[in-house]
Amino acid sequence: MKIISDPFELKKYLQKIHKSVGFVPTMGALHEGHIELIKNAKKENEIVVVSIFVNPTQFLADEDLDKYPRKDEADKKICQLCGVDVLFFPKADDIYSYDEVKVCAPDVRGYILEGATRPGHFSGVLTVVMKLLNIVSADKAYFGKKDAQQLHLISLMVKQFFMNVSIVPVDIVRDSDGLALSSRNVYLSEKERQEALKIPKSLYTASQLIGKNILKTQEIKKAMFEVLAPLSIEYIEILNRNFEMIEEIELGNTIILVEALVGKTRLLDNIWL
Ligand code: AMP
Repeated sequence: MKIISDPFELKKYLQKIHKSVGFVPTMGALHEGHIELIKNAKKENEIVVVSIFVNPTQFLADEDLDKYPRKDEADKKICQLCGVDVLFFPKADDIYSYDEVKVCAPDVRGYILEGATRPGHFSGVLTVVMKLLNIVSADKAYFGKKDAQQLHLISLMVKQFFMNVSIVPVDIVRDSDGLALSSRNVYLSEKERQEALKIPKSLYTASQLIGKNILKTQEIKKAMFEVLAPLSIEYIEILNRNFEMIEEIELGNTIILVEALVGKTRLLDNIWL
């Protein structure tokens, strides 16, 4: 496995190869969720590039940038074991300079849900993803459905900026207890982890109600609030796959999204129906 930190060196290396490239951008502290993305990329491309970059511009001033888990050596081993061809491991200075051109998140869909609780977050995400996609020039780039709004906005950016890459969504990987895997789960105490299980339970409750043909979104949200109490809920939202409000579930075109704070840890989850 090649490890490259200089964007220009990586660009040059990939330009010479003439093989199909699958790209998996991450912030490291790799877990089975990331590995699932890598496996999908391995299946569908001749070369797999993984990036590890904790992107400062997507963290707000009071967020956990300095505390964000970093496991560089373990991550390198995981990538090697997964058969990654190139690990792109830039430093902030390799990606950003003092006066930056930025990509702006869309006014509506970039400022609801996670964008409402973290204003500016998605502009940081889109800016770094634009840079990474331009550096790697991948045929396909893999993103988890766990970050559904991020996936939606990246797909929008690729479409609206006429970019030459296919965005491939990958299903959420969960722990055996149902909690969606996340690098931030390491922040949870044992007690908090038990509390956090209310999040997947609330989504399970929603899917059971829908199975009983209860399709009014207000009714489903109310039942979910009850399961989640007394967690601090940032939002429960039921949207169509274009991230627009709906009053009734449209099977095949709905996402139910939850964000809750467990202690100080912000956890996201969702189901696609
Ligand atoms: P992160 O390192 O948290 O920025 O995540 C990198 C990529 O892995 C993103 O596309 C995430 O959506 C994806 N990802 C994170 N957790 C999971 C999971 N539990 N299942 C599937 N994909 C995930």
